[in-house]
Amino acid sequence: MAQRETLDVDILIVGGGPAGMSAALRLAQLQKEQGGEPLAIAVLEKAREVGAHTLSGAVLDPSTLKDLVPDFAQKGAPFATEVHRDDVYVLTRTAKFRLPITPPFFRNHGNYIMSLSRFVKWLGGLVEAEGIDIFTGFSATEVLFEPSAGGATVVGVRTGDRGIDKHGQKKSTFEPGVDVRAKVTIFTDGVRGNLTKALVRRLGLDDGKSPGVYAIGIKELWEVPAGRVAPGRVIHTMGYPLKLEEFGGAFIYTLSDSLIALGFVAGLDYKDPMFDPHVTFQHLKRHPLIASMLDGGTLVRYGAKALPEGGWYTIPKLYASGALIAGDAAGFMNSARLKGIHLAMRTGMLAAETAFDAVRAGDTSEASLKAYDARVQASAVRRELYPVRNVHQSFAHGTIAGAAFTGLSLVTRGGWIKDPMPAHGGWMRIQKLAEYYKDARPDPDSTVNPAKIDRQLTFDRLTGVHYSGTRHSEDQPSHLIVHDASVCATRCREEYGNPCIRFCPANVYEMVDAGDGTKKLQVNASNCVHCKTCDIMDPYQIIDWVPPEGGGGPHYEGM
Ligand code: SF4
Repeated sequence: MAQRETLDVDILIVGGGPAGMSAALRLAQLQKEQGGEPLAIAVLEKAREVGAHTLSGAVLDPSTLKDLVPDFAQKGAPFATEVHRDDVYVLTRTAKFRLPITPPFFRNHGNYIMSLSRFVKWLGGLVEAEGIDIFTGFSATEVLFEPSAGGATVVGVRTGDRGIDKHGQKKSTFEPGVDVRAKVTIFTDGVRGNLTKALVRRLGLDDGKSPGVYAIGIKELWEVPAGRVAPGRVIHTMGYPLKLEEFGGAFIYTLSDSLIALGFVAGLDYKDPMFDPHVTFQHLKRHPLIASMLDGGTLVRYGAKALPEGGWYTIPKLYASGALIAGDAAGFMNSARLKGIHLAMRTGMLAAETAFDAVRAGDTSEASLKAYDARVQASAVRRELYPVRNVHQSFAHGTIAGAAFTGLSLVTRGGWIKDPMPAHGGWMRIQKLAEYYKDARPDPDSTVNPAKIDRQLTFDRLTGVHYSGTRHSEDQPSHLIVHDASVCATRCREEYGNPCIRFCPANVYEMVDAGDGTKKLQVNASNCVHCKTCDIMDPYQIIDWVPPEGGGGPHYEGM
């Protein structure tokens, strides 16, 4: 029988996104600066190559990069262009109104438009050049704990077994996962990371915090006729096709005179159980402002991911014995500025500095790692996030109230009569069909306000999956665990109309005929683009997203 191998390191980073790569690079710098016995450092990344699962708008605030890689220009940081112009539009169904003054939160002068997957790949190259191992294609599935005086100490992670078939049986290619044991594990497994979720639950790291609030972001990359757009333009939109009660908007970033990143963000704290982010995005593309830009163009890539929108009050306790949490995994995003990459990088650096000191001092206890919290509190991260701590929560009262409060935050520094403002996690706000639609209860299999699909400008879900480059082995257990599928055909269908078939952008969830006149849930797990929306938004909280066999998932080249 194959034996489980163990790998021992001093510091383990789980997740090779901007936070993880910044942590690794900072550790390499500290080794050089301080000399002494080199620490063993490793990065685990579930994608088959660095950057392949990384998705963002993306406009980078370079403030952290300037500290981490001061000579980033000489080292060839892969920016598409600097931002030259910002515009904010309010859309109605057929018209657009440009705000005469761009609100301060939306100003991007000095920032760079880029592909985040390329940027992370570039950071990964710098990390590897420093001799740090990045193990790609390894999904970490379990946090390893050992009992300790304070309760439990994190001692590393276990990677997933390989070579298990869809019935859960070992194939001839079976290889047990590896236990990677570390004195400190830095969790940078991204928004709604499966390991961070388990860690937070087990140790109660979110006790006393506001519940996490998220949004789904859908992004497409479009090649349009040369000269159609000026490079370096950033456009944000509010309003149509979202209702006033729904949080979100669109972004358009021009990477060159013929390449456009178009994205749509919708708060995962909507009330309408029939709301469909994919369909709403198709409506957006038919708006004259967007359609005129994309006309005659070609869809190049597609992706979707969740964003942590909740802000300062939703950030869990960031440390435990043997463990630190950084980046999107902890919720470091400024939802007023729509920016998080620089915060992910900064918290990755601060986690690295704390882990390095702790390992060198031979004390990786909770008391020692608490220094990370102090570093974050004293950093630019708090200075940026604290004044906008109630911004997302204010949108619970509608777009107009939220926008007004956001503007007011510039003066009030974010305070309110109730501070923190009351917050509800995403799924807590979704209403039942009978409550939202009263007398005109829609058919759960229908689409309220369907969008015309022309396969030129607008596409179905499966075409999106194709353009995301998603690939999973079909012969493996489903990585979407539905703990009680009987709820789907009965209670959920009646109460919420099976919202999973709408909030999943990748057609993973389908209600199909069961053959006896009823419906049953079918899970097309190989379509999954790893956006985590189902894990967040399922109203019964019975869906768990766990990583598929290492290497599976989207391939966000150039996104
Ligand atoms: Fe996103 Fe869940 Fe659908 Fe996968 S199954 S694409 S994580 S909503």
